Amino acid sequence: MIFNVASLLTAREGAARQASVEDGEVYADRHRFSKINGPVELLRTDRTILVSATITARTDDTCSRCLQPATLDIETEFEEEFEPVNRDLMSDRPAPVESDFDPALVIDSRNMLDMTDALAQALSLAMPLAPICSIDCAGICTTCFANRNDSTCNCDDQPTDPRWRALAELGAQTTNSNS
Ligand SMILES: [Zn+2]
Ligand SMILES: [Zn+2]
Repeated sequence: MIFNVASLLTAREGAARQASVEDGEVYADRHRFSKINGPVELLRTDRTILVSATITARTDDTCSRCLQPATLDIETEFEEEFEPVNRDLMSDRPAPVESDFDPALVIDSRNMLDMTDALAQALSLAMPLAPICSIDCAGICTTCFANRNDSTCNCDDQPTDPRWRALAELGAQTTNSNS
């Protein structure tokens, strides 16, 4: 996830280069993201390199329904501008007085653009709030705590009042006809 952008920095504004990330791996917070893949476009703007990428990755978490380990496929549209330490390569106009570089978005003195940290942040933000192990995970029975993916328990989770039951059945029918 490191690109040498020396030639792009000295190219015309608007020049672009296609690259890719293949089978990358990063750590962010408590997650390890692996199998990071996707096409990357590097575009020279007037003072930065704009990196645009459609990234897919895989990580492990806990299913919010059944509390078992869940493997999650994450996708993120990555777009960040990276600023070179060697500003003189891009412009003969005087550089603004030492503005602060974001350390995750800096192109170092050897003209290497490393998107690892910024991508780790983007992947963290792309994590679902309620991860699930599979789209039809049945979750845990709230009465006996059995994992309903493994076994069907005999707990009665239907509302006992017949009027509510009728409503619940109506709801189920509506759901079915919508699917
Ligand atoms: Zn689950
Ligand atoms: Zn149960």
